Amino acid sequence: MSDYDFDVLVIGAGPGGYVAAIRAAQLGLKTACVESRETLGGTCLNVGCIPSKALLHASELYDEVHSGALAKFGVKIDGSSLDLGAMQAEKDKVVTELTGGIAFLFKKNKVEWLKGLASFTDKDSVSVGDRTVRARNIIIATGSSVTPLPGVTIDQKVVVDSTGALALPKVPKHLVVIGGGVIGLELGSVWRRLGAEVTVVEFLDQLLPGMDGEVRKEAAKIFKKQGFALKLATKVTGVSVKGDKATITVEPAAGGTAETLEADAVLVSIGRRPNTEGLALDKAGLAVNARGQIDIDHDFATGVPGIWAIGDVVPGPMLAHKAEDEGVAVAENIAGLTGIVNHAVIPGVVYTHPEFASVGLTEEDAKAQGEIKVGKFPMMANSRAKANRDTDGFVKVIADAKTDRVLGVHIISSMAGTMIAEAALAMEFGATSEDIAYTCHAHPTHSEALKEAAMAVQGKPIHI
Ligand code: FAD
Ligand code: NAD
Repeated sequence: MSDYDFDVLVIGAGPGGYVAAIRAAQLGLKTACVESRETLGGTCLNVGCIPSKALLHASELYDEVHSGALAKFGVKIDGSSLDLGAMQAEKDKVVTELTGGIAFLFKKNKVEWLKGLASFTDKDSVSVGDRTVRARNIIIATGSSVTPLPGVTIDQKVVVDSTGALALPKVPKHLVVIGGGVIGLELGSVWRRLGAEVTVVEFLDQLLPGMDGEVRKEAAKIFKKQGFALKLATKVTGVSVKGDKATITVEPAAGGTAETLEADAVLVSIGRRPNTEGLALDKAGLAVNARGQIDIDHDFATGVPGIWAIGDVVPGPMLAHKAEDEGVAVAENIAGLTGIVNHAVIPGVVYTHPEFASVGLTEEDAKAQGEIKVGKFPMMANSRAKANRDTDGFVKVIADAKTDRVLGVHIISSMAGTMIAEAALAMEFGATSEDIAYTCHAHPTHSEALKEAAMAVQGKPIHI
């Protein structure tokens, strides 16, 4: 290895970085991973996917009990109450277990954890604290952070970002969410279920940008039905805080009369931006693109030989599973194998109730590419959803009109996040809608709605 300290040095131990480090070590490469947090696992395990899902699950249980929704099933629970401290403690416990699990996996696979902030000193060397290490290959997996809203200061008390919203010490009376995307709707759902009034202010005329148009319209209906106040096509022009209250000034996105909202908490969730500050990319001969991302080629190689990049810091959806798959692929490429990620088949899930899941093209994008056929099946006609009294949503399958190949699948259902895996697998194998329609699905399951939507592509569903 000449005078290199490592074959592979990974910067960042999120889902992209820690997976890349483990795979590189599994492939026999001497590997280290630099991480500045106290625990491994990145945004996802510490302040993202995992704590948010823990609170979504717990708040759903509370809501089911407290709202009386269980009573119609004959389950009567009197005198229920919320112990927010216990709920937060259980969330913290799962985070500790999972981040500790990565530390165990690093030891097991002999990945060295270099604690501290990494900064390039040259194309093949990085300083971490008072140590400088040289590596034959360096993988940048530094992830992303919250995009700030100009003029709005996040104090993590009254005005919070997603990290603050995961740790509120009490249920706010009124929570204003700025940004009706994934974070706003997931964390808005947590606090609404726990008793807050929630107002979502969204700049665009629909929620959930990037999703299928019909799904976005249905989302607005569903969240309104759940008691969310939606202010679509509206922009926030200022937030002022006095004591423990905030005043939010909003006006129509296209301009017009301003109004104010009073709130006990404000969540800023208008997107995330790549982490590259402090990396001294210029010393490695690298620069960022107009969106602040590091550009890469099909193999995850940057413009500088030996430097690679993956995850939220590169273009593409900011999703943990995309980062993980890129982590495996980049390590395999470095080891001389062929690591590939099919970016056309990356599922996305919003973990509200119901869940919103999609893979492949939206109907709008598919139409723009050529002639398509669309099959839809409502969850209302699915026997399992009906038995569970849980019938919001539908499944939509989009197929190429000539070849019948599935181009996209969009699901709204309490089980959408689980159901979308079948659609992703089908698309990865180049399935037609007929392939799905003629695959036997267990009865009674929510997944039968996917089969029926595929049958509907041919105009022949059975149960509607
Ligand atoms: P990150 O997870 O951001 O990890 C990067 C790591 O690099 C960080 O730990 C950081 O400390 C470290 N780092 C940065 N710079 C340096 C440096 N110079 N030196 C040393 N260390 C450094 N995605 C999903 O797929 N499903 C979900 O349910 C989901 N829920 C989310 C909920 C929330 C509230 C948030 C905020 C995000 C959520 N995401 C979810 C997105 C997901 O967390 C990210 O897509 C994923 O974490 C990206 O992984 P990554 O490895 O690229 O970066
Ligand atoms: P997002 O891009 O999903 O949504 C941001 C929303 O804010 C958009 O609808 C945008 O139009 C709106 N917006 C932007 N500026 C605004 C303004 N000034 N006023 C009002 N609205 C404004 O971003 P997010 O919800 O912050 O999430 C960030 C990233 O984290 C996403 O890319 C997502 O992939 C990832 N994430 C994923 C999951 C999941 O997979 N379940 C969960 C949480 C976060």
